[in-house]
Amino acid sequence: MHEFSIASGILDTVEETIGTGKHLMRVKLTLGPLSGISADSLEFCFTEIARIRGQGTPVLEILRPRVQAVCSHCAFSYEVDRVENGCPGCGSLSRHITGGFECEIESVTFEEMDIHDTQRAD
Ligand SMILES: [Zn+2]
Repeated sequence: MHEFSIASGILDTVEETIGTGKHLMRVKLTLGPLSGISADSLEFCFTEIARIRGQGTPVLEILRPRVQAVCSHCAFSYEVDRVENGCPGCGSLSRHITGGFECEIESVTFEEMDIHDTQRAD
């Protein structure tokens, strides 16, 4: 399953960044509509994989940016809300896609694994 390896990859990156032995509370992720990743499937397996790996039971919060494009005809930059809608400036459907492929960790909320330690970080 595609999303399974992506969720594992995210958890690897988080661990590399904040270190091991952390209890994850929340991971915020930007996921572009062109990333080819299903947000539902990713959300579904993320918490379970984290639990199996002993990283807590974090909530995966997914931010969905719009697809960004630049018109090939008039160079206007815009957000693509629907594929069939052309450039708001000139109506042309010819465009370069400049954003929407993101899969980036925005922030991680965690606490130390030792429950007697109340230290917390965002
Ligand atoms: Zn245009």
